[in-house]
Amino acid sequence: MEILKYDLWDVVEMKKAHPCEKHSKLFQIVRVGADIKVACLGCGNLIMMTRFDFNKKIKKVIEHHTEAIPHKG
Ligand SMILES: [Zn+2]
Repeated sequence: MEILKYDLWDVVEMKKAHPCEKHSKLFQIVRVGADIKVACLGCGNLIMMTRFDFNKKIKKVIEHHTEAIPHKG
């Protein structure tokens, strides 16, 4: 399995849309540690998952940021 390179604050596209009103596939990485925490850019909800799960669910890195960006909800 290929593991994508990503960093804190990167905006990433996930394989599955968030089951929220916006059905956004775009998330921003807001914490990188043993676990990864991402924020849905559609609704702003935070989702925590293990790195292993994240590596399976990420589709690609969209763009790099250096700080939190506001969600569009
Ligand atoms: Zn959402």
